[in-house]
Amino acid sequence: MRVLLPCALAILFASDVSAQCTVASAVAGGGCSTAIVAGLSQQIISELGTANLVNFNGSHVRLGSAVQPYLNPNAANALLAATNQMNDFMTINSAYRTCAQQFLLYQWFLRFQCGITAAAPPGGSNHESGLAIDTSSYNYWMSAMQSNGYLWFGAGDPVHFDYVGGGSVDLRSAGVRAFQRVHNRNNPGNTIAEDGVWGPATESAMNSAPCNGYSGGPSPPSPTPSPPGNCDDCYNCVKFGGGNACAPSPCSMSCAGINECMDCVILYQGGMACMDRCP
Ligand SMILES: [Zn+2]
Repeated sequence: MRVLLPCALAILFASDVSAQCTVASAVAGGGCSTAIVAGLSQQIISELGTANLVNFNGSHVRLGSAVQPYLNPNAANALLAATNQMNDFMTINSAYRTCAQQFLLYQWFLRFQCGITAAAPPGGSNHESGLAIDTSSYNYWMSAMQSNGYLWFGAGDPVHFDYVGGGSVDLRSAGVRAFQRVHNRNNPGNTIAEDGVWGPATESAMNSAPCNGYSGGPSPPSPTPSPPGNCDDCYNCVKFGGGNACAPSPCSMSCAGINECMDCVILYQGGMACMDRCP
């Protein structure tokens, strides 16, 4: 289960067209930083929602340039506890990694580029779980991390710690599904399966995805309509816009005290709300 380590009108708009970076062009472009897909990654992270990933950036950490400062909530709390214990800040070189970032790393690895000696295929890295961080000062942080629920990977990848403290969900499949949903919403004539599995169709969609994210913006417009009872494990069926919709779940907020016929759902803009459950 554990895996290794780890872009006549034609003239008027010529500069915009040439500036368009796709993930495929980022693969071929010769760079070695996944920061080139930061915009696309932010859309994937927004799709996952704040119940799955929280931003842990603050005075207790220093971040490498390509780092997306997100972790599962429990893993983020444990990281904060470890830095409080040491009363120091941690320099972090990797935390949550989107499947777009992992795709770049894997492609560079396959091409013997960027000095990458091992990389998991997209959907397979521990960093896509939202439960892992890398820090080069691992010896200094070892004791504090281990006493707060983190497991050191060991000599095979010494900078790597995995949160094993419980109460958290492995987001690897959900992260791939989040990209599939974002792609489909922005490519209604060319949809792919939203199955959370990295396959050829998803890879093709990723290659054509814009580095800076789709023009639809970082937030999905609304839940996808669905018949009641048809939502997958990470979604609840709720009444929405005169019909039914599947909204991301679960939430940590109880709706029982508000209305027993409501379910907690995660709002795309962040936060939670109680909405009427489907019949
Ligand atoms: Zn790592």
